[in-house]
Amino acid sequence: MEHEVAGSQSITQITIIDGDQFQLKLLSHQLSMQGYKSVFTFDVGQTALDHMQGQELASTVVILDLNMPNMDGLEFLQQLLETGFDGALFLVSGEDKTILHSADAIASSYDLWVLGHLNKPVQHAQLEKYLKLLVLQEGSSLKGEAKSTYEAARFRSAIDSGELINFYQPKVSLISGELVGVEALVRWEHPDDGLVLPDNFIDLAEENEMIDGIAQQVLSRALIDSKVWKEAGIDITVAVNISMYNLDTREFISFLENELQASAVNPQDLILEVTESKLMKDYSLVLDLLTRLRQHRVNISIDDFGTGHSSMAQLRDLPFNELKIDRSFVHSAHDNPSLRDIFDGSIRLAKSLGIKTVAEGVENEADWRFLEGSDCNIAQGFFIGQPMQVAQLSEWKLQWAERYARLKA
Ligand code: C2E
Ligand code: CA
Ligand code: CA
Repeated sequence: MEHEVAGSQSITQITIIDGDQFQLKLLSHQLSMQGYKSVFTFDVGQTALDHMQGQELASTVVILDLNMPNMDGLEFLQQLLETGFDGALFLVSGEDKTILHSADAIASSYDLWVLGHLNKPVQHAQLEKYLKLLVLQEGSSLKGEAKSTYEAARFRSAIDSGELINFYQPKVSLISGELVGVEALVRWEHPDDGLVLPDNFIDLAEENEMIDGIAQQVLSRALIDSKVWKEAGIDITVAVNISMYNLDTREFISFLENELQASAVNPQDLILEVTESKLMKDYSLVLDLLTRLRQHRVNISIDDFGTGHSSMAQLRDLPFNELKIDRSFVHSAHDNPSLRDIFDGSIRLAKSLGIKTVAEGVENEADWRFLEGSDCNIAQGFFIGQPMQVAQLSEWKLQWAERYARLKA
């Protein structure tokens, strides 16, 4: 029996990587009894990777034990990506959930689709339930594309029960290499689906008047964390993404005022990011609201710059302090002259307006080297650091200092 997925794809392969031989035997037996034909088991991560290398992996399900004795589960994930893996993942963990969170973070930033978490020892019934869901999921493919399949009511309860968490991605100075700030990126810690990325729920939230709920939680958390960093001697800015719908109401601005006062965070340490394309939709309203925000001395950043066709005059009038060049003009600009032209033009524009520039989407060393030779001020991207949980920042900082020293050597 071949298991169909929404009539279009099928689970062609299940690969299980687990340090425990007995578990492997048990699971593969149970799965084959259920009719899954191609079940492969490995107790050594590297052998699994060798097996997967060069195969068509779009409809593969991988079940990964994160606590294998002979390979780091996180390292396995990185290497899995290099095989071109595009299927669905189950993460298996024991008592210690820290590694599970890190694995979620890595998987989510690389767009790997984590279908669920399984506890050790893996119960066949639990796995079978997930596999059935996968097969039944209407309109799904095994590709892990944005799937906004959540109900508004379910999402509302996620907000109310505190299932949203902030991840933070570092921003570093291109002059000194120092950490200068972080961007807060919201994630939904879904009890069954793992870590869900914002593309799967921001539209839903905007359409159902829940975007203020997100903004308020993300902002409050960011201000709390900002204080913690400050107390630990890490003096950085924190950026929060704001939807135009947030700016529609005065409620958000008064919420912001109160939070700033209550947290005693210096408004200059807060950056609000608004995307360029949305800014220009209702220009006069935006101008009014942003001006009011600026009166509270918070910083305003134009996000995804280059995607929204703002005019020079509009940019001159808007009270913003930072321009974030969209990643589509940063990544690979080093070997693409037309991207480089847009990139250089954006930097010149920002300079003439006297504001800082941030390059997003720095994915590899070539992107980094290109930026080092440019006039851009700040860099952000997977090459420098993944979005991470608050507790991981100091560890990242130490590692980055070493990597930066090597880049400079
Ligand atoms: P954004 O503001 O442009 O955020 C940057 C996105 O790029 C993040 O995706 C981040 O993980 C990803 N990214 C970082 N470095 C790289 C890189 O080197 N290469 C590539 N390809 N991508 C990189 P994420 O977290 O999935 O967020 C997606 C979007 O969701 C954000 O885009 C932002 O517009 C929105 N968003 C995130 N958090 C919030 C929030 O709290 N409120 C609102 N309204 N929107 C949010
Ligand atoms: Ca942003
Ligand atoms: Ca952006």
